[in-house]
Amino acid sequence: MPAQVHVFRCLTDNIGALVHDPKTGACAAIDAPEEAPILAALAETGWRLTDILVTHRHADHVQAIGPLKRGTGCRVVAPHKARDQVPLADALVREGDTVHVGELAAHVWETPGHCADHVSYWFAADRDLFAGDTLFTLGCGRVLEGDPADLWASLQRLAGLPDESRVFCGHDYTLSNARFALAADPDNEALKARAAEAEAAKAADRFLVPTTIGQEKATNPFLRAGEPELARAVHKEGAAAVEVFRALREWKNRF
Ligand SMILES: [Zn+2]
Repeated sequence: MPAQVHVFRCLTDNIGALVHDPKTGACAAIDAPEEAPILAALAETGWRLTDILVTHRHADHVQAIGPLKRGTGCRVVAPHKARDQVPLADALVREGDTVHVGELAAHVWETPGHCADHVSYWFAADRDLFAGDTLFTLGCGRVLEGDPADLWASLQRLAGLPDESRVFCGHDYTLSNARFALAADPDNEALKARAAEAEAAKAADRFLVPTTIGQEKATNPFLRAGEPELARAVHKEGAAAVEVFRALREWKNRF
C-alpha cells in the first residue's frame, strides 16, 4: 500500500510532514520543529506517531523531540554525525542505511552542505524524498558548514532521482526563492509560470510542497548551475557548474 503524506506549517516558515503506512498504522514525523502543530496534524489525520526521522541537528528541526517522545513513546532516528546534538536518539543512521516506518522503507542519504550532519530520507517505492534543508522549492539551503561544493554534490545526487519523485522540504521560502530565481534566470518560461503559481499559492495560504525533481530541474537555479544561461547570469561563461553554483549561492546570500 502506498505511503500517505500530510504536510503542514510549523513555527514561522518550517514545514512539518507526517508519513503514514496505512498497512501497519506506523507514522513518522519528518523532524520535530514544533509540538502543537504536529499534535494537531496527528489529531486531524487520526494517525499515531511511532517515529521521528531527523534530517539534521538544527534547533528548528529537533526542538519538539522531547515533548513528542514523552507523549507518545515514539522512536527517534537521527544522523550518526549529529549523535551528540539530537536529544533522545534511539537509532543513529548513516549513508546506505535503511529506516523502516512500519513496512515503508527509506534509504538514508548523507546530503551535507547546509550542515555536515544532514541526511535525506528517500522512500524509493513511493518516490518520496524528504530533503530537509538541502533542496527547497525553487531554492536550496544556505551553506553553514563546509564548502558550497559539498551542497552542489548533494543537490546533483538528488537531481539524479526520477523526474516524478516528490520532494518535501523543511521550509517554505518559495516566494523569496522565486524572486531570486527570476533575477538569475529571467528568460525561463517554466520558471515564470512556477513563480506565478507560487504567488497564487501564497495568496490562498497554501505552499508549493511537495514539488518534484522534474519541476526543480526545470526551474530551480541551483539545480541549473550547469546551464549556460545561469553561467552568464553570474559572469562565469565556460566555468565549471560548481563554480557557477558557488557564485549563485553567494549572490542569493546578498539578495
Ligand atoms: Zn537547518
